[in-house]
Amino acid sequence: MSTVAPPASRALARRHDVRTGLFIGGDWEDAATTFPVLDPATGEVIAEVANGGPVDALRALDAAAGAQDAWRHMAPRARADLFHRAHGVLVERSAAIAEVMTLESGKPLAEARAEVELSLGFFLWYAEQIAHLHGTYAEGSRGGYRIITTHQPVGPSLLITPWNFPLLMIARKAGAALAAGCTVIVKSAKETPLTCALFVEALQDAGFPGGVINLVHTTGSAAVSAAVMADPRLRKVSFTGSTAVGSALLAQAAPGVVNASMELGGDGPFIVLDDADLDLAAEQAVICKFRNAGQACVAANRIIVHESVADAFTERFLAATRRLTVGNGFDPGIDVGPIISAAQRELVGHLVDELRDADAELLLGGEPVPGDGFFFQPTVFRVDDATAAVTRKELFAPIATIYRATSTADAIRFANDTRYGLASYVFTRDVSRAIAVSERLEFGMVGINRGIMADPAASFGGVKSSGLGREGGHDGIREFLEPQYLALTVN
Ligand code: NAD
Repeated sequence: MSTVAPPASRALARRHDVRTGLFIGGDWEDAATTFPVLDPATGEVIAEVANGGPVDALRALDAAAGAQDAWRHMAPRARADLFHRAHGVLVERSAAIAEVMTLESGKPLAEARAEVELSLGFFLWYAEQIAHLHGTYAEGSRGGYRIITTHQPVGPSLLITPWNFPLLMIARKAGAALAAGCTVIVKSAKETPLTCALFVEALQDAGFPGGVINLVHTTGSAAVSAAVMADPRLRKVSFTGSTAVGSALLAQAAPGVVNASMELGGDGPFIVLDDADLDLAAEQAVICKFRNAGQACVAANRIIVHESVADAFTERFLAATRRLTVGNGFDPGIDVGPIISAAQRELVGHLVDELRDADAELLLGGEPVPGDGFFFQPTVFRVDDATAAVTRKELFAPIATIYRATSTADAIRFANDTRYGLASYVFTRDVSRAIAVSERLEFGMVGINRGIMADPAASFGGVKSSGLGREGGHDGIREFLEPQYLALTVN
């Protein structure tokens, strides 16, 4: 099985021989039908991928459930060795993975390479934890017995990943789950199945036993997840995606009380206080907003600037945004790639219309880029409280909004006035102000004088409608472990 590339879609797709099947129980399989994967920079079909259904997903669950006991009882050192071998294979293939990622997601090659590096950092970090997982031992409070707490893998887990960070999301979820001793079924995003396939193939080639990791591609996500979620052998769902789909999955998890972790939408406020380093703030805001064409859950959607520095900041921010080059991610010097699909680009256009209808002032951009591919201009609006209803929607798009805050308290009020609570940012030269403001922000993460935060050792996640649980760090592994308490009589 390999990618089917029409002539114009670069020799690249042909050069990288990517598996296009489902991976179940250690074998790559075709499905009855296929679906096309597009290059969003050209609109061309770059591959036809096996379209799995509920029956395939249940077979993947059979395989995961069958492999669970042996995987859980494999000696930690042996499991860690497999991880290290897989990490080596991924490193060897990292250039190819980045190219395939750019081909199917459109993100600039430099961003794809950075994502590969970060993803492998997560995988390595989990590998290093495997032999260090431990429990606790304590004396019972009434004497005569001991309290031993161990941590058991939750069990077979369904991992549902989005398209915007195709390698990071699978590496972060599967890395934690597999390190904890869980077997997994990965449900890729239909826009970016090829990057997931390369990850899974690397684990296969490193010697991960059949059934430990399974991969299902589908255009019927709802039916596939419903079938797996209703099966009592499934013990965990870990989802990254929109809040709407996350809520639907929580409803599916409820009858069987399936353990759930949810990394959902965000609506990042980016606060610039009156004493901030404005050059730094503008530079970081541009990266934080327009990276991945604005299609990031942690993007700086709502830039909130103290009115005393609003003009100076806005001038810098607009100048830096004007310097961004939009185009095919394979071309040198490109900063902003395409929107993931034609449908998504249409939604971006609707958001712009809504902002205009709400009398937000357009400062830059606002239009799709004509020609092949699904490009949209980096866009900036000035907003006020009257436009809040629109700006409280997740701007999963290259659209930034700037709000002038009358005070620090007003900035915090505006920042918290959202149902989301994922990433937030504060720029100030005063560390005690930074802490005081952070403590008032109802967000799972606060970047202080920095617009990029992801790190393998950090707990990544949100509060409110942005999710449940954390990914990364020790907390990320704990999501896939259940404490077990042993009460032991000691005379
Ligand atoms: P999405 O919710 O549409 O899809 C995410 C995944 O869920 C995909 O694999 C999709 O195929 C699948 N899916 C869709 N409908 C489903 C259903 N009914 N049942 C089961 N699975 C279903 O989101 P998206 O458009 O792919 O990604 C963008 C969203 O993801 C944004 O809201 C963004 O903020 C969020 N996101 C969050 C994080 C985070 O860590 N918090 C990271 C990246 C993206």
